[in-house]
Amino acid sequence: MDTTTWDCIVVGGGAAGLSAALVLGRARRRTLLLDDGHQSNLAAHGIGGLLGQDGRPAHDFYADGHAELAKYPAVRVLAARATAAVAAPDHHGPAFTITLDGGEEHSARTLLLATGMSYRYPDMPGIAERFGKSVFHCPFCHGWEVQGGQLGVLDGGTTGAARALLLRAWSDDVTLLTDGPANLAAEDAARLAQAGVTIDERRIAGLQGPGEHLEAVAFVDGATRPLTGALVAVTLAQRGGLAEQLGAELANAGGHWAESLRVDGMQQTPVPGVWAAGDTVAAAPSVAAAIASGSLAAAAIVHSLTSLLARPDDVAHADAAISV
Ligand SMILES: Cc1cc2nc3c(=O)[nH]c(=O)nc-3n(C[C@H](O)[C@H](O)[C@H](O)COP(=O)(O)OP(=O)(O)OC[C@H]3O[C@@H](n4cnc5c(N)ncnc54)[C@H](O)[C@@H]3O)c2cc1C
Repeated sequence: MDTTTWDCIVVGGGAAGLSAALVLGRARRRTLLLDDGHQSNLAAHGIGGLLGQDGRPAHDFYADGHAELAKYPAVRVLAARATAAVAAPDHHGPAFTITLDGGEEHSARTLLLATGMSYRYPDMPGIAERFGKSVFHCPFCHGWEVQGGQLGVLDGGTTGAARALLLRAWSDDVTLLTDGPANLAAEDAARLAQAGVTIDERRIAGLQGPGEHLEAVAFVDGATRPLTGALVAVTLAQRGGLAEQLGAELANAGGHWAESLRVDGMQQTPVPGVWAAGDTVAAAPSVAAAIASGSLAAAAIVHSLTSLLARPDDVAHADAAISV
């Protein structure tokens, strides 16, 4: 067991966790960032819509984040997976033990869960290998890259009409693919017709095209329809069981979120000493929102640490205490 009691352990090194660690490091708080390197957008062509980084490959963005953190001696980054979290508060305040996949244990006064979410898309041939490229869940992220093409919305549910109308911002040629009889309200059907959206109810066999590119949707009857981009619905589910182990409450925020974490306006969960940021709480699922919530959570954690009683192993400033 590492005998350092970290001021904060940040679990997850995506946009939210890196942003939080940066703020914590600049506040000279002893911070351990744990990350096993599965940021949700790594498969995408680039980060769409992030000011100052628009279109930048996600790998490069995270590498820059690591380089920035390296300047702050209070921050240690470990490429590791946190497998267990136990809260063990004492008279000094909250305290936690985190166990890593190799069995190593670390203790901390506060925790930030920035573990991201598992994006679940329809189980249909041709989606997985194109997800984040020609097949996407977020038109604000990837609509620009497929603009003007033959676009499809794969959605036979109640959200299909709204999503097809939304996608019209990126192309005049939009088809709502319902994969079976369309169950549209008369009002939705009228709005789709007015917007020039085609409805295709044929059963879908899969998506086709070379590599990550999309050329057509294939139907069960053997026919195809040309398609260069497809919007699919996703649900976001928690990754791993840390939040549950700590007793953090799940909220059903609706929309994309199957199970988000409940937090207050400063990203704090109802569990004392535990904050959460990024996709794991229901905000706009975007890199910009993740950066913002990570930064906010870190500032709140720094404030909270000032009100905790000092433990015997605490030192005023991290620089002297840690070799990174
Ligand atoms: C395919 C795709 C494309 C996207 N494109 C865009 C886009 O163009 N523009 C945009 O703004 N948004 C985009 N998004 C959304 C955006 O990527 C997310 O909203 C954002 O990355 C969320 O950041 P996060 O830090 O919360 O989570 P993540 O980036 O997912 O990072 C979480 C990190 O925590 C790690 N982790 C999880 N559990 C543990 C654990 N127990 N121990 C250690 N590490 C752990 C994971 O491995 C991961 O590295 C896209 C999403 C997807 C899925």
